[in-house]
Amino acid sequence: MTTERLTTELDDILRAGDIIRRGGLVAFPTETVYGLGANALDAEAVSSVYAAKGRPSDNPMIVHIAEKSELDDLIRGGLESLTEDARRTMDAFWPGPLTIIFPKSDAVPDATTGGLDTVAVRMPSNRAAYMLIAASLRPIAAPSANVSGRPSPTTAEDVLEDMDGRIDAIIMGEQCDVGIESTVLDLTGEVPTILRPGIITKEELTEALGREVVYYKSLLEKPAETADPEDGVADTEFKPKSPGMKYRHYSPKAKVRLIEGSREEFVAKAKELGVEAIRNGLKPAVLDYREDEHAAAHDLFADLREFDRQGYDLILIRTLEESGLGFSVMNRMLKSAGYDIVK
Ligand code: AMP
Ligand code: MG
Repeated sequence: MTTERLTTELDDILRAGDIIRRGGLVAFPTETVYGLGANALDAEAVSSVYAAKGRPSDNPMIVHIAEKSELDDLIRGGLESLTEDARRTMDAFWPGPLTIIFPKSDAVPDATTGGLDTVAVRMPSNRAAYMLIAASLRPIAAPSANVSGRPSPTTAEDVLEDMDGRIDAIIMGEQCDVGIESTVLDLTGEVPTILRPGIITKEELTEALGREVVYYKSLLEKPAETADPEDGVADTEFKPKSPGMKYRHYSPKAKVRLIEGSREEFVAKAKELGVEAIRNGLKPAVLDYREDEHAAAHDLFADLREFDRQGYDLILIRTLEESGLGFSVMNRMLKSAGYDIVK
């Protein structure tokens, strides 16, 4: 199929909305990363998203809405059932880069939630994303618009690199502001739990909710076994709350290694490993965000993809301090490195 290139102008967005309504796939920008959207209420359309991404079908998708009222159909018990925690979080962070897990209604197909009885919902703030959801008159299920296992796309070019010819259309917007995926907050249990860290931090959520928010425990430890992104085979014993976690993620073709320490220590170690790599006929690259976690979030995925384009074999990255946004970026760095840290 030919992938139609669309702009963020109104007539193109209306056209994209038609494609979604007819069961097609449209990639679109959001403030976090580019999404690959389908009608969230159409099981067949959603299944074709898994096929286009080569994504295991037990990996649930986030449902994107343009108005809070759209939640009424998606969650069990409708809007009336919203808890005080849910109201507070939505008031504080929607529209924006926060996904909330709710008990799901029967209207949401199992294909969208990977068979879970919960549904992940987000209201993006990006204008093109908002307009597309409004134009399609449907909630839009959208995972990141990359081939499964690859770094998430943060530019339209990144999306085309993975998806050209596999999807109906792409809305060619700007580079994404945030650069890493949304924070995922589970509000279905006793204690509000972060399943995926993002730019909205644990500290901000704790403040908005006025009570303790915790990280899901597997976020704090190295998984027992990392699955191979090519075949999607995962350790079947590992059943995390947020199913995406069991698959390897964010992997460029090059090998990624993380290096801890001060700028001087990083330079010295990177030089040693770089020289060794060159001696072995490899092309090494060096990446230091100099403790700027916003720059790291914004650029990490784009940089990993750019190094692949340039044919590097080894990427040596300086770690960030694991607090606030640094924790969220380190979560992606660790996964892309297969948890390999050089001390
Ligand atoms: P992506 O669409 O690639 O950004 O990934 C979406 C992620 O959201 C999934 O991999 C899960 O980790 C998480 N997620 C989506 N729906 C649920 C749910 N119902 N329960 C827990 N986590 C979810
Ligand atoms: Mg993804």
